[in-house]
Amino acid sequence: MPRTNAVLKGAENRCQCVVCGEFFSTTRNFDKHRKGDHDNRYCVDPEDVGLVIGESRGNTFWKGRGTMNCWACGSELIWGGDNDDESGIYLIETNLSCSNCEAVVIVYHGKGENYEGDCDEE
Ligand SMILES: [Zn+2]
Ligand SMILES: [Zn+2]
Repeated sequence: MPRTNAVLKGAENRCQCVVCGEFFSTTRNFDKHRKGDHDNRYCVDPEDVGLVIGESRGNTFWKGRGTMNCWACGSELIWGGDNDDESGIYLIETNLSCSNCEAVVIVYHGKGENYEGDCDEE
């Protein structure tokens, strides 16, 4: 009995396992719950491979633990890359994009040489 109920409409990227009926946020997470060699694949409990149930607009699906979710739709964000922050205020600029919608998230982290704390803007 699957514990997730994601409706595929509008979320084509989510994949459902035809064997156990569970839904996954990404193919990568789907792959995690499939074990065994090529001719003898089987499903394991998604919980046992570190996945947790996520929820978006009433749909549930298995997603990676500790990953960031999209502010707009709740789907998993995919890491896009790290760059140096050119302003020097932060060390690193990380960009992530949503696996489901068009949202992009930029995260600045680490103190750069121009970092001044929580100063007031002029
Ligand atoms: Zn399965
Ligand atoms: Zn999204």
